[in-house]
Amino acid sequence: MHLLLVGPPGAGKGTQAKRLAKKYSIPHVATGDIFREAIKNETPLGKKAKEYIDQGKLVPDEVTVGMVEERLSRDDCQKGIILDGFPRSVDQANALSDILQDLELALDAVVNIDVGDEEVINRLSGRRVCSECGASFHVEFNPPQDAGVCDECGGELYQRDDDNPETIKERLVVYSEQTSPLIEYYQERDLLLVIDGETTPEQVFERIEKELDALE
Ligand code: AMP
Repeated sequence: MHLLLVGPPGAGKGTQAKRLAKKYSIPHVATGDIFREAIKNETPLGKKAKEYIDQGKLVPDEVTVGMVEERLSRDDCQKGIILDGFPRSVDQANALSDILQDLELALDAVVNIDVGDEEVINRLSGRRVCSECGASFHVEFNPPQDAGVCDECGGELYQRDDDNPETIKERLVVYSEQTSPLIEYYQERDLLLVIDGETTPEQVFERIEKELDALE
């Protein structure tokens, strides 16, 4: 199962990707997570990516595409992959198509998790993320049992630097201008599954499962 998850920031791509990766026992590759790990470790990649991430802009393709190519070339991606946060533009989608072709792999489906701007702003402004396992919470809609502590693994929760009102606004502009054309791109290639993302994570997952089961 080689899958892409698309949708605006805060749509729940990470949450659903983790569940799908577990269900199919395949890797979850999230470009945002790779960048955040590099930032934490203060690597050259992290330093470069931070300049863009803090502004809500896309990290340049020279950096991002090579990084994805390296990850997809590893053996564990042969049997399947859940790509989350890549591609984020038509140029990246074309680059991905070349990478997959070289690896003799093909996409099975592209899942578009559909969520409106107002909901995105509400979700991102209250989001808290686990520094250990990456699980997402929301101070109001999905609070952890103990404030600041992850229900899943006991890790410390933090607010992402780019989840502030100004950067959220810019990320939405970037999504609308650069990423949303992917919806038409994958529709034309007959790969797109559209899922209403404004329901509970459980309901979203059930709908994705149902759509994917229908493909098999
Ligand atoms: P995410 O965790 O997917 O919300 O990504 C956080 C940030 O990482 C984005 O706002 C971008 O600055 C950067 N980023 C993640 N994926 C990509 C990508 N495919 N291309 C360029 N920048 C990316």
